[in-house]
Amino acid sequence: MTVCSKCIINDNYPGIKFNDEGECSICTSRRTFKPFGEAKLIEIFNNAKAKNSEFDALVPLSGGKDSTYILYLATKVYNLRVLAMTYDNGLFSQTALDNIKRAIEITGAKHVWCKTDHEIQKKVYRNMLLKSGDICGSCDIATISYILKTAQDYKTPLILYGTSPLEEDSFVPDSIQDISRFKYIMNGTPGLTKEDINKYIVIPNRNDFNTFLKKKFGKIGQEVRPLFYIENPSDKEMGEIISREMGWKEDSNKDFTKHFDCIAEPFTNFVRHKIYGYERHICQYSNMVRTGEVSRDKAVEMYNADLVDEKPSNYNEILNLFNLCDSDMENIVRLKPLQYEKYTSKINKFFLSLVRIKQKIRGI
Ligand SMILES: [Zn+2]
Repeated sequence: MTVCSKCIINDNYPGIKFNDEGECSICTSRRTFKPFGEAKLIEIFNNAKAKNSEFDALVPLSGGKDSTYILYLATKVYNLRVLAMTYDNGLFSQTALDNIKRAIEITGAKHVWCKTDHEIQKKVYRNMLLKSGDICGSCDIATISYILKTAQDYKTPLILYGTSPLEEDSFVPDSIQDISRFKYIMNGTPGLTKEDINKYIVIPNRNDFNTFLKKKFGKIGQEVRPLFYIENPSDKEMGEIISREMGWKEDSNKDFTKHFDCIAEPFTNFVRHKIYGYERHICQYSNMVRTGEVSRDKAVEMYNADLVDEKPSNYNEILNLFNLCDSDMENIVRLKPLQYEKYTSKINKFFLSLVRIKQKIRGI
């Protein structure tokens, strides 16, 4: 196995290449990010405030570090009237639930829970695991739909996301959030009708292009990633700020890293490691090396301590939750990676190519 000499990513990562010095193509193609500027962010916020809607912005809140920090910025730094929302994916850790409760109490923001039919949700997770080994994509699909629906229902001029420029390249490269791919995998699932699947997706015909049009014509608020506009604290500093200001607490269980808000995270990471030979942790730690947040030696140490090759401590609990047995797991870990990529939406692919052309013309 080849491992990058700069970060810790290995050659199991789809499409990765290594140069003569042993550096991976993610490291060599990386550019330093320059924030767009706080003045532009303030202008966006002032425009939203001038609309005098009941709420200036929607903040999706998971109880994790990034979304709690965005709620802090929106309410305490920029004084926006915020509607916070959380999609109940049925997998929240108690720590995350407590963090959400404290953050809402402290900020006084209105908070809504979006809930789906839990029986349908469980069947979706079980089937996605059996066929693809992944449930994160199906959770993302419902989460994104509920965010867009809530923004539309409450007519919030803005939707604020916690995505950070420091996190770029720390995600997995397959199209797990694609609805066409999802529908293809779900088709024919025992006990689930087409109506059930559409109910789960919330906006069944959603694709990148019609979502773009809805935003363009003001049906959905503007999506903004504030961390792209301002100088950001490091991951550690961000944790210190929200601990102090928002009563935020970190889970001490080392199974739970960046996504400790989800009890299935160590399990999904373990399965991904078995199927792909790499997983989210290695992407995240590699990215932290690239941004200078930790040294390569430290990343290796953290990665080894995660024991990604071993069953997580709540393995049996998760198996019970998804109604899976040991023989199901034997089949799941033998699944082929990237086998559904050709079933992704043609409209999404076309739209993505348009976005790339636009970026090229603008020199981004
Ligand atoms: Zn690298």
